[in-house]
Amino acid sequence: MVTLEQSLKSENASVLDKMVEHEQVLFCNDKATGLQAIIAIHDTTMGPALGGCRMAPYKSMDDALKDVLRLSKGMTYKCAAADVDFGGGKSVIIGDPLKDKTPEKFRAFGQFIDSLNGRFYTGTDMGTTLDDFVQAMKETDYIAGKPVEFGGGGDSSIPTALGVVYGVKATSQALFGNDKLEGKTFTIQGLGKVGFKVAEHILAEGGNVIVTDINENALDEIRKIGGSSVKVVASDDIYSQDADIFIPCAFGGVINDDTIATFKVQGIAGSANNQLAESRHSEVLREKGILYAPDYIVNGGGLIQVADELYGANPARVLAKTQNIYNSLLEVFTQAEQDQITTATAADRMCEKRIADAKNRNSFFSQAKRPKWNFKHQ
Ligand code: NAD
Repeated sequence: MVTLEQSLKSENASVLDKMVEHEQVLFCNDKATGLQAIIAIHDTTMGPALGGCRMAPYKSMDDALKDVLRLSKGMTYKCAAADVDFGGGKSVIIGDPLKDKTPEKFRAFGQFIDSLNGRFYTGTDMGTTLDDFVQAMKETDYIAGKPVEFGGGGDSSIPTALGVVYGVKATSQALFGNDKLEGKTFTIQGLGKVGFKVAEHILAEGGNVIVTDINENALDEIRKIGGSSVKVVASDDIYSQDADIFIPCAFGGVINDDTIATFKVQGIAGSANNQLAESRHSEVLREKGILYAPDYIVNGGGLIQVADELYGANPARVLAKTQNIYNSLLEVFTQAEQDQITTATAADRMCEKRIADAKNRNSFFSQAKRPKWNFKHQ
């Protein structure tokens, strides 16, 4: 059986060969507005596909297809890890977000989303904004992560940051036998929407932080809050600091051959997407005795909030589910230890088991009794 990774590498693979693991791919072309987009639905075993819409000036249709196939598969795992009743999907709009956006394009895009009749929910991602989706919402109800004034759950970096704190605590529990932040030292890369809140929380619980950011204002702000519990270092020096746990909250690819060689931390748990430069780096971390909390579990808080919105936004429900990131990580750490595999592999297997369990459950019920997908739109 050819995998998605193998099929994407093959130059000669047809579109159907490339979507070997996907249920459905919709190519959208609207002559009137110039919209060109691709919607990929990877797997709807757990529920309708959920995933953001990225707008980027892809060099070719093939690059856009590769991106949407890869990202939508990632969403299947992310949704399973977050234990939300959604499957994986993603959409991409081909174009420069700074030059090629028009309200009409996003309305046309909304019509394509609507044509899937609830099989796919989308919202903002890199290159798209809430304003874009206010346009799409004129054409479809299947938009998630809405502005608060349209029934949305609000700033998703709040639950994401909370999830990171639970991720750091679970990693601490596995490493040190207690999940106290007090007295421990954490390196934080990036004091943006997520990293700043995580730093505040750690300081409030009596931990110390070593931080870096290219934004001087954020550094000044955290110094004001934490005083002597805050140390600021240059961007490149963050990897080699003497600390307990590294919390990457800026960009991906930060776990690579160069950084691993300098790490002195015992664990890594942060919000940045795609932290491993290559999947083999999870094995390199394991060999070095550094415990890696898989990024897509740690940063699931925002997704939990977006998914919850489709039942009618409820902060208490979001909080409860986000807390569960702690338990999912402990399950992954235990399984990895037991099977002598990396935590990244253990995380993937946990998600695949959740999906397989859902498949069995779905075949037990008659079609009529299967979970209804229209949520509050029924
Ligand atoms: P953000 O843009 O608000 O913050 C990123 C921070 O990193 C900024 O303060 C920026 O100045 C800093 N930064 C950039 N380059 C740097 C460098 N070289 N050295 C040090 N700092 C640098 O983004 P965010 O919303 O806080 O998200 C952080 C990460 O978490 C991103 O990778 C994002 O994809 C991921 N993530 C975020 C959410 C969410 O809900 N916001 C959800 C899932 C994943």
